[in-house]
Amino acid sequence: MNQGSIKQNDGRLIPEDHVIRDRYQGCLLPPLHSGGVMLTYKCDNACRHCLYCCSPKSSDEVMSEAMIDRTMSALSTERSLDGIHFGGGECSLFFDRLLYAIRSAIQHGVRIDYLETNGGWCINEKTAMDGFKQLRDAGLPGVLISASLFHLEFIPLNVTKTAIRAANKVFGGAFVWTGEVLRLMEQLPDHDKKYPIQESCRLLGIDPSDGTLWNIHSYLNPCGRAAKRLADGLKRYPVEKFTGDACGRTFRSTSHFHIDPHGNLFTGHCPGIFVANVDNLHPKVDEETAPFFMALCDGGPVEAKKRLAPKFEPDAAGYIGKCHFCLELRRYLFEQKKFNELCPAEMYHV
Ligand code: SF4
Ligand code: SF4
Repeated sequence: MNQGSIKQNDGRLIPEDHVIRDRYQGCLLPPLHSGGVMLTYKCDNACRHCLYCCSPKSSDEVMSEAMIDRTMSALSTERSLDGIHFGGGECSLFFDRLLYAIRSAIQHGVRIDYLETNGGWCINEKTAMDGFKQLRDAGLPGVLISASLFHLEFIPLNVTKTAIRAANKVFGGAFVWTGEVLRLMEQLPDHDKKYPIQESCRLLGIDPSDGTLWNIHSYLNPCGRAAKRLADGLKRYPVEKFTGDACGRTFRSTSHFHIDPHGNLFTGHCPGIFVANVDNLHPKVDEETAPFFMALCDGGPVEAKKRLAPKFEPDAAGYIGKCHFCLELRRYLFEQKKFNELCPAEMYHV
């Protein structure tokens, strides 16, 4: 089992998830430490690894000014909060709203760490410098610029490099995620070109279906769009392999939480499963209010299927990880509209 244990007075080792559950007879999300405020699910890219399934087809909805203020007000009461970043989707598509969000965070005393951007809007140095200067003058301290072979399908390397150069000048530095992949992409012959993944892999001598892409981009999660678009060739496991692999510990991780445009909070790395929102970031959660969430806490997706979806037929081909199985189970349950914790729709229409 992939979870910690706590030693009881009688010497028994009890899984940490069960101890918390005994104490609260349910689940309480711990204080928030660090996370992202997602202003939108819309993106000009549709990267095949996107955990949030963002794309140009996502709704045009952007976090309203009122919701931004409610979010910042709620975050300002989180005593353990180190800082937040802005992300999406691609926030720069709604530039004025992004400026509003930066100012709102500052007004509410919420520390901003950075803006996450794909940099696709940095089509020349002047545009990039002007944009970053406006953001800096509103109070943004820094940026994270994405660089991956998946982004390269939509954004030429020279545009990414323009974004990095401009951010270096305006902010005195830029965090590139990841620098290793950026260096790898430098080996490609044409930096003004968008490379389909098959072509970049061929030129770089990478087999796109043997798992190497997952090693190069080591942060990938077998969930979201990656579970569908990057699963080819990976080893698959039968559902039984995930038995007893509970998710309570993941849900209680608040070091990289996200709040989506609707004000929903998700913790761990589990977008699409919400039990709290900015009106109450720490509700008491139990079987009655969130049966699917509690089943995941207790025993992971295998337990959730046993309790709540006995008729769900797992794929005989197996799954690349328990989160992949979880996502397919959630898709099935989302269509039945029985569980409030499964939302928003954007997450389930890949
Ligand atoms: S990974 Fe980032 S750039 Fe790519 S689709 Fe998702 S939000 Fe957009
Ligand atoms: S199995 Fe589901 S709930 Fe558990 S960690 Fe993965 S995505 Fe989150």
